Amino acid sequence: MKRRDILKKLSLLPLAGGVAGLYPFQSKASPVPIPPASRDLFKELGIRTFINAAGTYTFMTGSLMHDIVTDTIKTASKEFCLLDEAQDKVGAKIAAMTHAEAAVVTAGAFSGLTLGLAGILTGTDVNKVKALPHLEGTGMKSEVICQKAHDIDYNHAFMNTGCKIVTVETVEELEKAINEKTALMHFLNINADKGKILHEEWVALGKKHGIPTSNDIAADVPPVSNLWKFNDMGFDFVVISGGKAMKGPQSAGLLMGKKYIIEGARVHMPPRGFNIGRGMKVNKEEVLGMYVALEHYINYDHDKEWKVWEDNIAVIEKAAKSVNGVNTRIFVPPLGNITPTLELTWSKETVKAKDIQDKLRAGSPSIEVMNHDDKTIHITVWVMKQGEEKIVAKRLKEELTSLMA
Ligand SMILES: *Cc1c(COP(=O)(O)O)cnc(C)c1O
Repeated sequence: MKRRDILKKLSLLPLAGGVAGLYPFQSKASPVPIPPASRDLFKELGIRTFINAAGTYTFMTGSLMHDIVTDTIKTASKEFCLLDEAQDKVGAKIAAMTHAEAAVVTAGAFSGLTLGLAGILTGTDVNKVKALPHLEGTGMKSEVICQKAHDIDYNHAFMNTGCKIVTVETVEELEKAINEKTALMHFLNINADKGKILHEEWVALGKKHGIPTSNDIAADVPPVSNLWKFNDMGFDFVVISGGKAMKGPQSAGLLMGKKYIIEGARVHMPPRGFNIGRGMKVNKEEVLGMYVALEHYINYDHDKEWKVWEDNIAVIEKAAKSVNGVNTRIFVPPLGNITPTLELTWSKETVKAKDIQDKLRAGSPSIEVMNHDDKTIHITVWVMKQGEEKIVAKRLKEELTSLMA
């Protein structure tokens, strides 16, 4: 073998140190862990991945974090800092961006609801903090009022503090329900049109009776202006998810509101105590990741993105519509998940939404779409990667053609 050939061969071998150090227990040489980037853990563990044509669902792992968020998480993971200091500094920035008095990064919107209410109940009184969720005999308030149409499963977040939910339908019922135990009047933005009392009136009634008001806007950007609209309107606290349209960490969200509420909420959160908020930990990576996600979301070109969504959904609609017996419609939900949404219906009675879902799921690549009901499929493009709309269009047309035949 010529020297040149030997060198060539050698250069193809992994570095000696690297090989010896691959498994630290095999060698005393400096441990070199397996570079995670070279591992496809989804493949290795047999976890199915898919094109998400459904939307921001927790069971589908929400949205994909923006690159600036994953970069931030990686950089943040290389240094220590005090968790409180990270929350202080980031909270001040987030508050300024969202027109709130104060803000804190929480472990999602749900934890924001629990912590916001907990902050109202206890303030910064550590003994009260320790008492939750056992409110009886403590002198703390114990009731949350909301409209019947706003009483969804997520309101269990309030019950975690020990409070109970009281539902009302009219202003008259509301005013009758308010009593010395009322801690909070809660509003659910996504169901605003389903209740009799609208935002402004809800806030005004809260002020009239001296009861704090809250608004769950978890899935309500876009429009970006919702980030400050309800703080400006006078809600005492507002929560939003970080891992939906903002493409921040899925395990993060924002609690924004009055200074006394945020201060109280933070007494329940890590790094303090062993109380109801202890399990809702966010570390510096999520705190900083959420911050850059929000900053990016506020500053980017939403009109341009909307246009891309419209173009991409049109590609899928065109393919679906070309199949005999399939009807399509594109609509934009008026509240929550505000993005162009394709609705598919069909004339063939025996075909169920689940049949279409199963076929797309089993294909390659696997695709997830949402069944609105037995006979209706909903498709969105807002958490899809560029180019995937063409794959979805093609696969949808194939499966619809064979199912409708
Ligand atoms: C998604 C959602 C939540 C929960 O948000 P997380 O950030 O996952 O905790 C709460 N309320 C509504 C209306 C939601 O859509």
